[in-house]
Amino acid sequence: DGVTLEKVRDYVWEIPQEGGMNRPARVLASEDLLDEISEDKTLQQLKNATHLPGVRKYAICMPDGHQGYGFPVGGVAGIDAEDGCISPGAVGYDINCGVRMMKTNLTYADVQGREEELVDALFEAVPSGLGGGGVHQGTKGDVDAILERGMEWALEEGFAVPEDLEHCEDEGVRHDADPDRVSQKAKDRGKNQIGSLGSGNHFLEVQRVTDVYRDDVAERFGLSEDQIVVLIHCGSRGLGHQVCTDYLRDIEQAHAGLLDRLPDKELAAAPAGSQLAEDYYGAMCAAINFAWVNRQLIMHRTREVFADVFDTTWEDLEMDLLYDVAHNIAKKETHEVEDGEERELFVHRKGATRAFPAGREEVPPAYRDVGQPIIIPGSMGAGSYVLRGGEESLSETFGSTAHGAGRLMSRTQAKQEFWGGDVQDDLREQSHVYVKAQSGATVAEEAPGVYKDVDEVVRVSDALGIGDRVARTFPVCNIKG
Ligand code: 5GP
Ligand code: MN
Ligand code: MN
Repeated sequence: DGVTLEKVRDYVWEIPQEGGMNRPARVLASEDLLDEISEDKTLQQLKNATHLPGVRKYAICMPDGHQGYGFPVGGVAGIDAEDGCISPGAVGYDINCGVRMMKTNLTYADVQGREEELVDALFEAVPSGLGGGGVHQGTKGDVDAILERGMEWALEEGFAVPEDLEHCEDEGVRHDADPDRVSQKAKDRGKNQIGSLGSGNHFLEVQRVTDVYRDDVAERFGLSEDQIVVLIHCGSRGLGHQVCTDYLRDIEQAHAGLLDRLPDKELAAAPAGSQLAEDYYGAMCAAINFAWVNRQLIMHRTREVFADVFDTTWEDLEMDLLYDVAHNIAKKETHEVEDGEERELFVHRKGATRAFPAGREEVPPAYRDVGQPIIIPGSMGAGSYVLRGGEESLSETFGSTAHGAGRLMSRTQAKQEFWGGDVQDDLREQSHVYVKAQSGATVAEEAPGVYKDVDEVVRVSDALGIGDRVARTFPVCNIKG
């Protein structure tokens, strides 16, 4: 479709700079994954992104990349924070959508035969779907406090222990948050959704560890074969979506001149230093805090369910947070750019996960000497992975790797291909995975067959040294919105 790709080396492909591109673009993929990535608008969107002012080095597509709103899901762009811009479309609507993994000291044998009891209890206790409220019915004051202080609010309210904050990206608080920059409409949408999965692609999954690839790192992470872990995937709900909507509209209007020079209206961006860039950054950081609290409250509720089902306390079950990673975010970080200079960048990661290796000061003390944990979900019928930040990530990807298997087909297409009830039956009978969902359509839209091969995605990350494979898990039971 008119996008030229040159092979740089194994798993690295480049779209050379031409025309209005400010820098080249790169795709990190095996040949099979590249074929899949080439089927939709991903490559064109990646190329378009290099037109954004201040793009450094290259715009990058991760091995799980697919097309998104303006900017690919699985896309990373490091854009100069002084003479570049910030683009809400390159963050995504679900600000700080992300995943966290909680450990337990249970083994698969402890859960076998009780999957249905567990999945029913979780489905009952964890709010999901379109309506239904949240774990906590928030007041106006709660929402402002959450936006300002993130997981510190959860700690004060008894929904978290200090160790939870110590095992979360940014310790669960972005201090750049500015709740005053979040519209009342966004806050109102968030108030009834504090601690809720939402619908569609978001889920809570009980998993068992099936493989360990790096014994020393797995031991540091507290992971071992047959162990039961819990994966939670959700974001900032209606609040984050509204922040994105609000700022896209304002930025399109106020910076129409810049937009006219870009190849896609969906790439609307606020120039660094402009009032709207400041305002969006403050509002986005507030939405980031909201999402961390959201995942924390779901985890809190999950601990209560496990304590109840296994008739003990969650502390006794050692239900500790391994880590929480964001995969829709833009953050000010310092990186070396094309000419070897260190620059402050807005690192946009949309459907991409931070993958900092040992030594980076942003990695919490618990992991600073091994590298941060990275969590990459696969699907409800495939493996998921824990990796650790790889040494090559800083030079190759502004410290990033993939965020999932990545979609192969649209939701509409998925509903034509799959029937929710059949997918559920097959999963139970063939893979012993128990799925409970608010709607059959969701199960069809999220059927394992709609996703790429996560093993292949992770193999590429590992081979490139951007995220090193540590352990693989497989679903036991899953609840979906
Ligand atoms: P996204 O945030 O882009 O919607 O999804 C992140 C990733 O989660 C997807 O690329 C997919 O690989 C993975 N995923 C989607 N549904 C499930 C599920 O039910 N279980 C697991 N383990 N992973 C899933
Ligand atoms: Mn999301
Ligand atoms: Mn997500």
